[in-house]
Amino acid sequence: ATPTAIMVGIGKAASLGILVRDAESLENGKKIDCLILDKTGTITEGKPSVQKVIWKSGVDEKPMGTVFRALEEKSEHPLAAAITEHFSKEKAIGELTGFKTFTGKGVMAEYKGEQYAIGNIKWLKTLGITIEQHLSQSADELLEQGNIVVYMSKGEEVVGIVSIADKLRATSKAAIAQLNKMGIAVHMLTGDQEKTASNIAKKVGITHFRSGLLPQDKGQYIKKLQKAGHKVGMTGDGINDSEALVLADLGIAMGGGTDIAMETAQVTLIHADLMAIPDLLKLSKNTVATIR
Ligand code: ADP
Ligand code: MG
Repeated sequence: ATPTAIMVGIGKAASLGILVRDAESLENGKKIDCLILDKTGTITEGKPSVQKVIWKSGVDEKPMGTVFRALEEKSEHPLAAAITEHFSKEKAIGELTGFKTFTGKGVMAEYKGEQYAIGNIKWLKTLGITIEQHLSQSADELLEQGNIVVYMSKGEEVVGIVSIADKLRATSKAAIAQLNKMGIAVHMLTGDQEKTASNIAKKVGITHFRSGLLPQDKGQYIKKLQKAGHKVGMTGDGINDSEALVLADLGIAMGGGTDIAMETAQVTLIHADLMAIPDLLKLSKNTVATIR
């Protein structure tokens, strides 16, 4: 590899809004035959907005919303920002105690001697929290329509659900089609639940996807593909993607995502545009071809 050709390649990439860390990273691009995409913030904009809140009957909505706002104010998850914003008109409350955050699951704290949690239903169920049928049915309908649903619990029961929409990035579908055309297998991995995941996958033309994954599961999935002989690229934006970004043969971070994703990845897409990935892979092939 002549340093000059590599420098030129890295410069061209930069002019397309693709920051490539070093020569090796550019060369790795040409070997990639599998590309993993995170869902929230990668395929979608990651700018979720609350569409609707449904409370269990008998719940005192205002004070309850205030408690969940206080909880989500302490979280850095993109869904937390949307929820905080939605409940922002409610009056502030005193300090919560024992705040804990569970990556890929949700957050939890105590207030006035009661345990409050907000997150995905799979996690809440493992904590022994139950959901009444009426709420669970409403949630299913919202999921069916392609929304993200987050569950709020007090004590041992779900007291409300939040329906959240997160738009697809404008170029996601076209970029995935382009990658498929180049012979690259595209997989989607998400911590979100099955119904939302399958809905998004269908919309962007992805057939391989997994839902309900924890950060370490994303890493395991990549290791499995590598053991089967694949060279794997991973694209993500979140704290929950950093382990996978490190394990992949080429880690690609979405610009504007969390700092940790950009710090761990070899490549950053400044414009957070997935169309830059086919550009990068082509550039990598061409640069390497020039060298040999
Ligand atoms: P993705 O892999 O799609 O980027 P995450 O792994 O970050 O998603 O999150 C997975 C799921 O965990 C979310 O869809 C949500 O249900 C739940 N979750 C995580 N953190 C929070 C939070 N602070 N508030 C509400 N829900 C959360
Ligand atoms: Mg994400």
